[in-house]
Amino acid sequence: METSCVFCQIIRGEKPAEIVYRDETMTAFKDIHPHAPVHLLIVPRKHIRSLNDLTEEDQGIIAGMIFKARDLAREMGISKSGYKVLLNVERGGGQVIFHLHMHLIGGW
Ligand SMILES: [Zn+2]
Repeated sequence: METSCVFCQIIRGEKPAEIVYRDETMTAFKDIHPHAPVHLLIVPRKHIRSLNDLTEEDQGIIAGMIFKARDLAREMGISKSGYKVLLNVERGGGQVIFHLHMHLIGGW
């Protein structure tokens, strides 16, 4: 947990967000600048800076996030119409918040 990290603050409940799912390993909430009718962020509870900082012990976390993306797509009613699951990595890859997160985007 990092005190200055906005996603850690959301996970700790110190900053508001429209949370759609939460368990002991991850939190999912609506992106405040949505790029599509459905735009969720799936964020691990563990502060991992970017995909580059993922370690072997994080395998379960990242796998869980992918399964959760599938389940949330189903819940949001976009699994049949289609969606994207994105990981932006470092500045050149479009990462803005340096706490690993997965975008679930769809609803077109
Ligand atoms: Zn963080």
